[in-house]
Amino acid sequence: MKCGIRLSPCENSIAVINHDGDFVYSFSFKPADTYSELLFQLESTLKHCLDKYDILLPFGVSVKGHETTSTGMIASLHHPLIAQKTLRRDLQAALNHSVIVASDGQCLAVAARSVLQLDNKPTIFALSLDQSVCGGIIVYDKLLSGPHGLAGDWGHLSLPWPADYELEGRKCVCGRTGCIEHFVSLEGLSHDYELLTGKKLTAENIIKQAETGDIVAESAMQVIEDRISRGLAMVIGLLDPDIILIGGILAKSERLFTNIPRKWPWYIRSSVNSDILVPLRTSNPCPDHLYLHGAAHLCCYAK
Ligand SMILES: [Zn+2]
Repeated sequence: MKCGIRLSPCENSIAVINHDGDFVYSFSFKPADTYSELLFQLESTLKHCLDKYDILLPFGVSVKGHETTSTGMIASLHHPLIAQKTLRRDLQAALNHSVIVASDGQCLAVAARSVLQLDNKPTIFALSLDQSVCGGIIVYDKLLSGPHGLAGDWGHLSLPWPADYELEGRKCVCGRTGCIEHFVSLEGLSHDYELLTGKKLTAENIIKQAETGDIVAESAMQVIEDRISRGLAMVIGLLDPDIILIGGILAKSERLFTNIPRKWPWYIRSSVNSDILVPLRTSNPCPDHLYLHGAAHLCCYAK
């Protein structure tokens, strides 16, 4: 049995997964107000899992951020409760059990390898497009994290080939300007629509409006597709992955997988097959399903 945990500011989830990949136990709970309360919540639930199930491998934890290798502290812009905390060490001490921590993007990359197999795709780049944006890289059976834990941290690179109007006043949550995340997160899409119309609409509603033929929503979608295309051109130039998988809420939009590769000829010197870009989805309705799968399988790939 393996155990995966996903921590986010809105909800925390835990799953115990058997050898066939089925969830034999899952539990979600609202986050506590303090870090020590969060640790207590996790400790009590995970001890229950250790008592009830035969979990010998390390627990895996998916977080909105990454663990800084030199300090063991979590760097997180979207989850202040765990930011600058030594989450892995604290959980290990509380549980007397090994723990591995990785970003949402890194866990999606592991899920792509462990759930979808993809044995003929040595290099995988997975991208989580949600409230926050981050990537993960698997080469053969190894999750790359790097000496600083930053491998795949795509969201806070600068948007490539920016137009003049994209360079002004685009303050990212990290404090700098022009980061990819600022433009292609759910909030980024919503912000763009607001700039065009003066009205605030959620990203999910903008996608729906574009499907019904709304011209402004369609324009906002075309812009975000071009931006993701530019960002992925940079990934292809550096890594040339065999496959790029997009998960998260924005991956529900089918049009991304047709329109993004169409723009690549403007940004990539060589011809790149459009079929390397695919959605990362499962039939399971739980939004955390793939993140939990990836977290639980970190023990097999984070060597
Ligand atoms: Zn940033």
